[in-house]
Amino acid sequence: MTFGNAPMWRALGFSAIFLVLALPLPGVHAEDATPTPEEYVGHAGGDSHLLPPGEFKLDNRKQLCGQRPTVIDNALDDYGAAYPGFLIMNPRLLDKVSTPVKQWIFAHECGHQFRGPDEETADCFAVQRGRRQQWLTPEGLEEVCNFIAPAKGDGMHFSGSHRCEYMRRCYEDPNIK
Ligand SMILES: [Zn+2]
Repeated sequence: MTFGNAPMWRALGFSAIFLVLALPLPGVHAEDATPTPEEYVGHAGGDSHLLPPGEFKLDNRKQLCGQRPTVIDNALDDYGAAYPGFLIMNPRLLDKVSTPVKQWIFAHECGHQFRGPDEETADCFAVQRGRRQQWLTPEGLEEVCNFIAPAKGDGMHFSGSHRCEYMRRCYEDPNIK
């Protein structure tokens, strides 16, 4: 499901929706196409639903992204995604990965909320937040690396190994990006 040209940020980035959006379209503004969480749930249907900020948990740990709500969508074709203003999480897929990987996915999508569309910046935000909040150990970071290792690069995303190299550097970097 897509909403026109609205920028949907993805955990693994198999889609290049944002790239398309970044091209200036005469008379079309990105903001116009961005759905509200309620609109998203209305379109997604099924068992999708909206959770207010602070209500979403991963392995019983409360996940916060400022005042952003979380939409649960088990039919999403990725582990997580985000539109400006809210996060989308897919518990059906998230259930298959370890706790640090789950939290990294949430934090990556949260990174887009505060840092914008750049994937490397969202990756860096996620690992630095994990280090600061103490849910991401060096071992957990390796689990994240193994998780994204198969991801091939595309127009928007570097390959898994490249992303990992950068995340390891960010994780060590005392300066918050
Ligand atoms: Zn992303």
